[in-house]
Amino acid sequence: MSFALHGFAVSPGIAIGHAHLVSHATLEVAQYQVREREVEAELVRFDNALATVRDELAQLRIEAEASPGAAAELSAFVDLQAMFLVDPLLAGAPRTLIQERRCNAEWALVQQMEHLVARFDEMDDAYLRERKQDIVQVVERVLKVLLGKTRKIVRRKGAGVGAGATEDDLIIVAHDLSPADTIQFKQLKIGGFVTDLGGATSHTAIVARSLAIPAIVGLHHARPLLRDDDLLIIDGTRGVLIVNPDARVLEEYRLRQSGLEIERNKLKRLKTARAVTLDGADISLLANIELPQDIDKVREVDAGGIGLFRTEFLFMNRDELPGEDEQFEAYRSVVKALPGKPVTIRSLDIGADKQARALRNLGGTERMEPNPALGLRAIRYCLSAPRIFLAQLRAILRAAHYGEIRLLIPMLAHAHEIEQTLAMVALAKTQLRESRIKFDENIKVGGMIEIPAAALALGPFLKRLDFLSIGTNDLIQYTLAIDRTDEAVAHLYDPLHPAVLQLVAQTIERGTRAGLPVAVCGEMAGDASLTRLLLGMGLREFSMHPSQLLEVKQQILRSDASRLRAKTSRLLRCDESVRVREQLAALED
Ligand code: PEP
Ligand code: MG
Repeated sequence: MSFALHGFAVSPGIAIGHAHLVSHATLEVAQYQVREREVEAELVRFDNALATVRDELAQLRIEAEASPGAAAELSAFVDLQAMFLVDPLLAGAPRTLIQERRCNAEWALVQQMEHLVARFDEMDDAYLRERKQDIVQVVERVLKVLLGKTRKIVRRKGAGVGAGATEDDLIIVAHDLSPADTIQFKQLKIGGFVTDLGGATSHTAIVARSLAIPAIVGLHHARPLLRDDDLLIIDGTRGVLIVNPDARVLEEYRLRQSGLEIERNKLKRLKTARAVTLDGADISLLANIELPQDIDKVREVDAGGIGLFRTEFLFMNRDELPGEDEQFEAYRSVVKALPGKPVTIRSLDIGADKQARALRNLGGTERMEPNPALGLRAIRYCLSAPRIFLAQLRAILRAAHYGEIRLLIPMLAHAHEIEQTLAMVALAKTQLRESRIKFDENIKVGGMIEIPAAALALGPFLKRLDFLSIGTNDLIQYTLAIDRTDEAVAHLYDPLHPAVLQLVAQTIERGTRAGLPVAVCGEMAGDASLTRLLLGMGLREFSMHPSQLLEVKQQILRSDASRLRAKTSRLLRCDESVRVREQLAALED
């Protein structure tokens, strides 16, 4: 049966392919067949993973006992999880599945978990019903161990698209995906993905845009309605998912898909054009990256440099932190790949939806944060973990010896945070100097403006820092009190809210007047429908995913910056988003 579902369009384009359902947040749990002679090894792999988690839990228990406050509660849940690990229902049944179906251990475990969770769901007792969370948690622990060794999505046999098949024939369907899950798509050939949860500027959505694959989030109930291998069309521009389309609809979308490809190819002609407005204002168009390998895409569009390297992605999907030397190599590889161009490296912005188990492993226990977006994130985390912060600062300073690297600090709000950060930079320099290691003494240090408090009390930023970069994603989240990852409030997440526009415009105005370069590196910079508005606010430095850069350049080439200035100041006087939208349309004339 054919039907359509609507969600939030987060990454444009059209993908046509077959559904590959993944379980919970554990994206990596693909099903694959193991050969007859490998079944025994698969069973050993499974048993070893259980043993590792049993050791982990035993260690946790020791630590819990050593920390008086949390001991009783923590020990209780550790004991419960340890009990599940030896229960034949969780430890035995997957073995039978592996033997009978010759499937991989991860898949067998998740199948059994889902079976158990369904049984818990049926229980009348609310306490027992809630215990399913413990099962899910312990299974996730085991999966992490298993996946630490084999991390792959394998195409299932017979899941081809058939006549007219494109290569991009794998569409991931998940209840939710974390940014750590999504970043792994960089290693895989994924046509697109859809999720039940998520907001338009969650980091999961951002990674989709950086991969330039169509994606829809916030579909609510897609996963339970879909089956593996259903034929799907993702219309990532409109946020529509079409399930099992008939031949006519499929044909229509294939046509649209090739139309979009032609448009994209036309834009490539702008690659070497200078980004300059009709009245001669030079605009700097920089790229946002998550990993050093993204440099290929940056070169494809000939970006002017890197405006934002989100280094936290280097810390994800691994058990141990990247050390100073490993980070140094990663940063140096980027700056060496772009000779003569600036590379803005942002210090670790971990927390909220961006999680790294290597950091959690360090802590030993997993603290449940009451409100992660308002918690120990980004610079707040770094200042509380000086060893990790210093190692990163040293790596960045050392890499800066090989090219023009700028250091960008996320989530600053207080003058004392700026002072502490600069003191840490000075300390990292002293350490390098004492060890006689080469580094850049004069590295420029900038701050992200992404908390309203920073935009409103800009003085210390102007006095103490060398440049500013406006993070509109968080600035909108915190100005409007909308969790950017929550689909339930995603309709209220509005870049054109007058309060947001005033904060952005004010920051550009004051920063520029004080002689500091000001960039925008949030998603607004890559939205071609907002290019004129930002130009009219006086912005001269935009940083975005490489896939968006040529479209933004096209807008710049058609704009007159000084004419936009007057129109934009009228727009900024509007105090309702609807009026702003009317005026925005007028910027096109
Ligand atoms: C932002 O908040 O706009 C930003 C660029 O940082 P991130 O999206 O990584 O939070
Ligand atoms: Mg941010």
